[in-house]
Amino acid sequence: MKLHSHRRSFLRNLTGVSLATLGGNVTGAEVEPAGAGYINPRKVLLYESTRKEFREAIEGGALQAVILPTGSTEQHNEHLAMINDTASVTLVAQKAALLLYPKVMVATPVPVGISPHWMDRKGTLTLKRETFLAVVFEICESLQKHGVKNILVLNGHGGNVAPLRESVPEFARKLGIRIVTNSYWDAFTPEIVKKYIVSGKAPGHAAEFETSFAMAAFPERVHWEGVDYEKIKPHLKIKDPTSALQEEEFAREAKLATSAKGEAMIDIAVKWTAGRLRQMIETPAAK
Ligand SMILES: [Zn+2]
Repeated sequence: MKLHSHRRSFLRNLTGVSLATLGGNVTGAEVEPAGAGYINPRKVLLYESTRKEFREAIEGGALQAVILPTGSTEQHNEHLAMINDTASVTLVAQKAALLLYPKVMVATPVPVGISPHWMDRKGTLTLKRETFLAVVFEICESLQKHGVKNILVLNGHGGNVAPLRESVPEFARKLGIRIVTNSYWDAFTPEIVKKYIVSGKAPGHAAEFETSFAMAAFPERVHWEGVDYEKIKPHLKIKDPTSALQEEEFAREAKLATSAKGEAMIDIAVKWTAGRLRQMIETPAAK
């Protein structure tokens, strides 16, 4: 079927993208046969590049911007992996960088975010606001020292949004380079959400959108097996009743997820992110 082959090529395009690559299961070996315009996905990942490759890219003037993905390691209800946000944002970043090759690279993602609000759900890891921001700043500072002049801090976790918005302009001033921040879902206008997401919520949390994204991008991180939300609900002991109700709603909405919705939304996020970068690269920095 057409849809089937489309889906397979979509997944093939993601080879080497997932954060699993950080775990050593690397990338670059299992690439597509060279085709028109094909680029080895490794080439846009700073953390998979050699120092020779990075040095030549920056000193030769080809590399004009770096994306720093920020995510989380946090509970994603009963069925999605904790790394979901980090893996999602890294994927969007990498695909956007590939569209702009060789102008953009992706720095090592910040894999833990600000998630104190999920600490009554098992498995969540959280950083204090100041710790998280210090990590982001020092990565930007490292990049600045190597000559990077444009950084997009691309976020994939709700709890990081406000702290990044408040602090990134100051980081830029301190370092004397351009640094901007967006969440990849800034790509989704109300019309786009309405068109693809029945529940009307994107990103939401481990609900229809995030589950669709994961089904499209990394189905190996979606685990419905043995999940019975109604049965487990009384054992969860969620302190905040509003939060408990919302989670229940999200768990129901997650059943509306499809990989086709995920693919469509990923495509929109990738193109939007590439546009954001293009805008950055093409606009001379203000003095
Ligand atoms: Zn999430």
